[in-house]
Amino acid sequence: MARLEINGVTKKFGTTTAVDTFSLDVGDGELVCLLGPSGSGKSTVLRMIGGFETPTGGSIRIDGEEVARLPPEKRPTTMVFQSHALWSHMTVAGNIGFGLKLRRLPKKQIAEKVDQVLELVGLAGYGKRQTNQLSGGQQQRVALARSLVLEPKILLLDEPFASLDQHLRERLREEVRDIQQRLKITALFVTHGQDEALALADRIVVMRDGHIEQIDRPDVLYREP
Ligand code: ADP
Ligand code: ADP
Repeated sequence: MARLEINGVTKKFGTTTAVDTFSLDVGDGELVCLLGPSGSGKSTVLRMIGGFETPTGGSIRIDGEEVARLPPEKRPTTMVFQSHALWSHMTVAGNIGFGLKLRRLPKKQIAEKVDQVLELVGLAGYGKRQTNQLSGGQQQRVALARSLVLEPKILLLDEPFASLDQHLRERLREEVRDIQQRLKITALFVTHGQDEALALADRIVVMRDGHIEQIDRPDVLYREP
């Protein structure tokens, strides 16, 4: 769990202002969706929280620490991407345990943690499989497991299910919601799908042209007329 404070953050790419004085506080264990059309700045916000982009101005703090000043290995976030996330030459367990190996955890501990997280994402017993033998949905579960196993303070998800069919997307979003609540992990989820945001979020941040158009709870934002 962690507290995220974003204060007046701007990101410019040349003459393009991708994110414009964006401010948001996210509390411990909250799931916030960033919702908006393509090009509205959602990914850039997420990437700055993850430390993959440096803000042109403003500040992003996680539990009081400025993200841009942290070296990569100290960043308290992990990110789940839409696709191309897995290493196809490694087994499922190899993929999930890789980050722990880099942290020099003992093999036995890695194996235990990998098993735990496989169970959490509904893939118990899949550790020895090759990732290219998995379905699209299973691959995204592995990507999620690989992020969770590092026990991030904040989980960042960038349209993680956008390449899956509608049915699978709905199932996986329920699973993510369930896992997020069980672990009480603070999470940010980027989507351009209103249904997805409605189903998942404690709060929805509606973005347009790099700035926040509206922030509200789902039931307030989309109250039946
Ligand atoms: P979204 O995630 O809502 O689709 P993005 O954050 O990807 O929006 O993009 C916001 C704007 O910033 C877009 O105009 C996009 O083209 C631009 N942009 C994003 N990343 C870069 C980059 N690395 N270089 C140049 N322009 C970028
Ligand atoms: P999204 O699905 O979030 O809109 P995009 O397909 O727009 O993502 O962008 C994918 C990647 O390309 C991101 O890393 C983003 O930063 C980068 N990117 C987006 N727009 C531009 C751009 N105009 N110039 C250079 N890189 C860009």
